[in-house]
Amino acid sequence: MSEPKPECQDALHELYGYLDGELTDDRRAAIHRHLDGCQPCAEPYDFEAELRQVIRRKCQEQVPASLMAKVRAALATEQTPSTDGA
Ligand SMILES: [Zn+2]
Repeated sequence: MSEPKPECQDALHELYGYLDGELTDDRRAAIHRHLDGCQPCAEPYDFEAELRQVIRRKCQEQVPASLMAKVRAALATEQTPSTDGA
């Protein structure tokens, strides 16, 4: 197991805020720069970003608020994806 770098912990910690557009422009730029040059961080980012796109598409159809709450809770707890393409 390799030690995660402090900047990686920061990037992953703020990943959800980044994806949700809740960060300042400065923080977004810093994380974007980090993801660009850091494969271990870019991988979970790609997964989450894809997931958000799917959710957003579904949202444009019809998703009850209760389901969105469940999805958010699942996203908050499942930091590491264990299945692909599910
Ligand atoms: Zn990193």
